[in-house]
Amino acid sequence: MCQLFHRLESGEWQALALAGETLSLIGESASVAVGSAAASPPSHAPVLRRLASPSGDAWLLLAPESSPVRVNGRPLVTGLWALSHRDAVQLGAAPPLFFSAERVAVIEPFAGGPDPVFCPRCKTVVAAGSPAARCPSCSTVFHQSEALPCFDYGEISGEVCPICGESTALDGELRWTPAEV
Ligand SMILES: [Zn+2]
Ligand SMILES: [Zn+2]
Repeated sequence: MCQLFHRLESGEWQALALAGETLSLIGESASVAVGSAAASPPSHAPVLRRLASPSGDAWLLLAPESSPVRVNGRPLVTGLWALSHRDAVQLGAAPPLFFSAERVAVIEPFAGGPDPVFCPRCKTVVAAGSPAARCPSCSTVFHQSEALPCFDYGEISGEVCPICGESTALDGELRWTPAEV
């Protein structure tokens, strides 16, 4: 799930998970109101709209011409922007918000597919419905259960995905924050 980071007064960054289909960016401080919560956003309020994509979710930023919104320091000339990881979205003089497309690994029953999927760790089939984890970076599917902890494999794998080197932590913590920008 994608996130929008905003800075708290304490200086810390807080991630807001982008849920729902449409979000409005409103207010001087570019606070984010979710869907219907923004019952009457100002007409120049930029809107985030979810796009379903095979690799997860993607978000479009839509803004009318009169909107004072900028992305990565530039005005939105076309009124439309497909957000990508680490984009800075700024509304007027408000501090920027940062878009993050980082996904975290979770253990879920494997959905299955038309062809058998083999776990790259143990080389056996990942059966539909069996507990599995998908690498958030390369999307490879592994078993992940007490009997077959193929994804996080602990110290043996150095706690990284053997395919792409992404962290296999299952703590739900985001690795990237705008503090790195
Ligand atoms: Zn396996
Ligand atoms: Zn991977």
